[in-house]
Amino acid sequence: LDPDVLANESRVVVDFIADYYRDIEQLPVRSQVEPGYLGKRLPDSAPYLPQSIDAILEDIREDIIPGLTHWQSPNFYAYFQANASTAGFLGEMLCSGLNVVGFNWISSPAATELEGIVMDWMGKMLKLPSSFLFSCGQGGGGVLHGSTCEAVVCTLAAARDKALSKIGADGITKLVVYASDQTHFTVQKASKLVGIPPSNFRAIPTTAASGYALTPDSVRSAMEADIAKGLVPLYLCATVGTTAVGAVDPLLELGKVANKYGVWYHIDAAYAGSSGICPEFRHYFDGVELAHSISMNPHKWFLTNMDCCCLWLKSPSALVDSLSTSPEILRNKASDAKIVVDYKDWQIALSRRFRAMKLWVVIRRYGVANLMEHIRSDVAMAKHFERLVAMDQRFEVVVPRKFSLVCFRLKPRFEGDDASDLNRRLLEAVNLSGRAFMTHAVVGGTYMIRFAIGTTLTEMRHVQATWKLIQSKADEIIV
Ligand code: PLP
Repeated sequence: LDPDVLANESRVVVDFIADYYRDIEQLPVRSQVEPGYLGKRLPDSAPYLPQSIDAILEDIREDIIPGLTHWQSPNFYAYFQANASTAGFLGEMLCSGLNVVGFNWISSPAATELEGIVMDWMGKMLKLPSSFLFSCGQGGGGVLHGSTCEAVVCTLAAARDKALSKIGADGITKLVVYASDQTHFTVQKASKLVGIPPSNFRAIPTTAASGYALTPDSVRSAMEADIAKGLVPLYLCATVGTTAVGAVDPLLELGKVANKYGVWYHIDAAYAGSSGICPEFRHYFDGVELAHSISMNPHKWFLTNMDCCCLWLKSPSALVDSLSTSPEILRNKASDAKIVVDYKDWQIALSRRFRAMKLWVVIRRYGVANLMEHIRSDVAMAKHFERLVAMDQRFEVVVPRKFSLVCFRLKPRFEGDDASDLNRRLLEAVNLSGRAFMTHAVVGGTYMIRFAIGTTLTEMRHVQATWKLIQSKADEIIV
């Protein structure tokens, strides 16, 4: 690594990225290429001699950019956003630039210690009970993973091992995991990964009447039915901000059920967790004090470039019991004395990125005040969009909005009208235009279009223009 080359070439790359952001609004939001397009454009073997960064950037401009769906476009309203920011980008540069691998404390003490500090900062911003924080000294604390999926796998492994230590290793076929039919599929995947029989995963049905939230009674009944069959309830996952419609499970009531049956209680707040820093949204987290663990993704709605997932636990020792290994090659005085955190024992992999640097830069560069403002402005835009939908008689908001996700659809025009087909055609017409990108969900049998606001560049004018686009495509479709 030559520092002068690094300085010169990174300037060229940063300028390239800045230009990308300058022009991003002009690019078709959803990529319009056909499968296999890239193989036709790139050589089929690696270059033997080095190539210049200018040549590489030219190929990115010509061949790669057309094949990108522009997640940072102001007109990206699909899935949940992965919002980038200047601070997130700079933090990511520092993380990659320093490129330390803090798997245990001694391998880079500042990486571990900064992570502990940042996790406590975040926990305090979200007003988590102090039992989840390092500073409280009761054994709780947090860790940064790359994704919610990893966080769920690790907590499930900890819960499984705790349970098996009581009922014996053969009991794994008896363990049961509970979630709702709206819980992210990551929990079902994680459940399989830790060896829970697929038939022991309960996706408890939700209904429109509860706003697609889990009801404590349904969970209680499911657990009692399993206990009656000789099975052992293991793990309950509740969600704040479900993927399809942004529903919120009643944390306090579910926590009481979970605690009564002695199951590990996890809260997945991947998307909506960020809203918890604003007092007006904090009530959705009431009951978190009953949880064993909670996770949220700053890479979704907290201006933190990919990837970054916060996981807090009241008893990380359960995680460590399940995941720790002590190979001779990593032995050192601090670890042996058990006076430090070795984050390798809080995650799946050994190697780890210095994600705390990124989150630290984001929090410091924006400050809590601006981070709250960022959440509020997205929610204000979503409210405005919701009002626009309500003002057009042809449309309806399908599920009451809580955060910055609006689920809407064209209403059936007459008895027996296939509204799903109508809305599918509307969505495809909007996406094909290249001027916006939204995705869909089918919940309770109803096909709906999801309008998820959260890209950093999105302003009210984009929301208004996209609504006009939606209306004009609806004019074409409804003949
Ligand atoms: N949980 C919820 C509620 C989500 O919406 C998502 C992704 O959108 C996930 C989990 C998965 O997150 P990750 O990709 O970080 O595993």
